[in-house]
Amino acid sequence: MSITPLMPVYPRCGVRPVRGEGCYLIGERGERYLDFAAGIAVNALGHGHPHLTKAIQEQAATLMHVSNLYGSPQGESLAQRIVDNCFADTVFFTNSGAEAIECAIKTARRYHYVNDNPHKTKLITFNNAFHGRTLGAISATNQPKMRDGFEPLLPGFAYAPFNDLEAALALVDENTAGFLVETVQGEGGMTAGTLEFIQGLRKACDEHGMLLILDEIQCGYGRTGKFFAYEHYGIVPDIMTVAKGIGGGFPLGACLATEEAAKGMVIGTHGSTYGGNPLAMAAGQAILDIMLEPGFFDHVAAMGERLRGAFEQLLPNHDDLFEEIRGKGLMLGIKMKEPAVSRDFVAHLRDNHGLLTVAAGENVFRVLPPLVIEESHIAECVEKLSAGAASYKAPTS
Ligand SMILES: *Cc1c(COP(=O)(O)O)cnc(C)c1O
Repeated sequence: MSITPLMPVYPRCGVRPVRGEGCYLIGERGERYLDFAAGIAVNALGHGHPHLTKAIQEQAATLMHVSNLYGSPQGESLAQRIVDNCFADTVFFTNSGAEAIECAIKTARRYHYVNDNPHKTKLITFNNAFHGRTLGAISATNQPKMRDGFEPLLPGFAYAPFNDLEAALALVDENTAGFLVETVQGEGGMTAGTLEFIQGLRKACDEHGMLLILDEIQCGYGRTGKFFAYEHYGIVPDIMTVAKGIGGGFPLGACLATEEAAKGMVIGTHGSTYGGNPLAMAAGQAILDIMLEPGFFDHVAAMGERLRGAFEQLLPNHDDLFEEIRGKGLMLGIKMKEPAVSRDFVAHLRDNHGLLTVAAGENVFRVLPPLVIEESHIAECVEKLSAGAASYKAPTS
């Protein structure tokens, strides 16, 4: 038997974390890492945040799980709090991002179905998109590495280049239900939607009775320096998926919608055994207790400016390695120049300089620190990155 008990679908590296302290991870042998990966934008408050851990501990001892067949004071109050702070009128809680995407796709299809437009099933999505790993979510991307061997996939998707409004509009026909798009692409290469692109999609939706579905699973929940990334664009979506930062490490996601967009989602149309259970809701409330404190998003924006500014100063010293800085707020990416390879550079920073970052598409590496970093962490990151750039040898091929 050579297969590992843990199904070998991840290229797991040598870092084996056993403890977390704020912005640091501690490995099995006691070694420390500055965690600017944050569980891929999940640990918004870092590790072991006292308010979050206390809330989870207390709720676990009080009531962990009950069926969604019962009334949910915990779910009602978290949903109300989210609704009070964004475009949405209603929330469906899930356990992951991909499940939130499934709910968004179903909500969009049902909307047109109950509007007597059952033929409107096609969602236009974008090259390099990442929406998760369920069959629905991989159908919504055209990245072969996620789709190969899993056909037949869900029909009803078409793909346009990201940030190419003309190309997206050219795909619209009488069967189009709407657009599904990351406001800021994460896994695909940390590219922010342009103002013209996101606003143009909104306008097309308004004109043609289509739905704008934003995937803010990575870029939402404070990551870009606002509660949600769409706030940078002066528009609102009809449906939006969130996850990652929403539970700060507790598995939680949500599909948010306006009353109009959710009109087809009536009793019996959707469900989840665990979705929105009291333990998850306690985690979600604890995150909002901290994030909705005055000044939290301003802090993210300010730290994002600092970090970007520091990267901008560093870049010219290594113009053989680094091409450009991408992203918004504390969702930053640096595009590398060949022969430098981002995946390889991430491993180098990790193994030789104790700095954790994440690789992304288009030869970019992602810098996704906890949202609660201070200037000292930025200084430490820049020091490690600078030393890492100086000592890095690109693979010769
Ligand atoms: C991570 C991510 C997902 C998938 O979330 P899971 O919790 O892994 O299912 C979907 N969309 C985006 C933009 C993501 O970053």
